[in-house]
Amino acid sequence: MSRSVALIGAALISAAATPALSETPPEIVERAIELLGESISFRTVEGDDDIRLYAERLADFLRKNGFAEADVEVDATGPAPTLVAIYQGESDDAPIILSGHMDVVEAKPEDWEQDPFKMTRTDEFVIGRGAVDNKFDVTMMATTLARLKAEGFKPARDLILALSGDEETQMKSTAILAKRFKNASLVLNGDGGGGTLKEDGSPLAYSLQTAEKTYADFAITFTNPGGHSSRPTRENAIYSLARAVDRIGAFEFPVSTSETTLEFFRRTGAMTEGPLGEAMLKFAETPQNKKAIKALRSNPEYVGQTGTTCVATMLSGGHALNALPQRASVFVNCRIFPGVDPEDVRKTLVSIVD
Ligand SMILES: [Zn+2]
Repeated sequence: MSRSVALIGAALISAAATPALSETPPEIVERAIELLGESISFRTVEGDDDIRLYAERLADFLRKNGFAEADVEVDATGPAPTLVAIYQGESDDAPIILSGHMDVVEAKPEDWEQDPFKMTRTDEFVIGRGAVDNKFDVTMMATTLARLKAEGFKPARDLILALSGDEETQMKSTAILAKRFKNASLVLNGDGGGGTLKEDGSPLAYSLQTAEKTYADFAITFTNPGGHSSRPTRENAIYSLARAVDRIGAFEFPVSTSETTLEFFRRTGAMTEGPLGEAMLKFAETPQNKKAIKALRSNPEYVGQTGTTCVATMLSGGHALNALPQRASVFVNCRIFPGVDPEDVRKTLVSIVD
């Protein structure tokens, strides 16, 4: 029986924020929702020409809303289409980049109750693939830039909207944009942080992301000489994999904290009612508090901010119904806390499955 654990992923560091604006007029909210609906209708999954068409649509929107023809560029010649739109500022100072991505994760209609690429709107929600990640933020940024143009706002330096086309998969266009704009004074990533509303719809908090966890995929594979299923052996690649997956599922990485996460829990805890708010405050004060850790880690919204996480996401194994499996694999996706070495996470996974 042999086993290999390979590191496939890479890291991305980003920051996010939002410009301060007065209350948004209802017609602008409506226009944003309309553009969001249109955005969702583009099936911008990996390799689909809709990514280019969506970029063209956004370019058209920006040009119709005050951007000069030459200041909006759609590049479909690279690994994935990108959109760059320059909001000319009053100086040549290093620009501020507004970052986002146009692509979405694949969505299979059979897994959905409605067409994933058609926006469904209820009183409270809009539903569709990318309704949050990242077409919401892209729509917000495009609509806000259009609004600023209409109001005659002139930034002190260039504001550059830079949208990638393969953030969910290869990140090659993201890397190209990062290289191109590496001299920026600030990068605001619409894909990080975000606003939270109270029950009555009024604003509760707006969170900013100061760093991104390292993304890493690990492939864990068990192999076996195999044989005919009429002559089963004790050693079996699928059984070994199942035990390994079970151990990964039960494993918890140690708690990690940073200045940002502790401050986040301190502030959010003060605004959050009930046991969850108490757990946040307790954690901010004593990050080793077992009860607080348990409460936060059982909440998908907050588990990621308490340390490194790894989760099994895809399985494959066996090659015939009547043969002993010669190979069984699982992909484990890890989100590694800033400051933790991905190699240490790999070693931890090896020790868990060994
Ligand atoms: Zn995203």
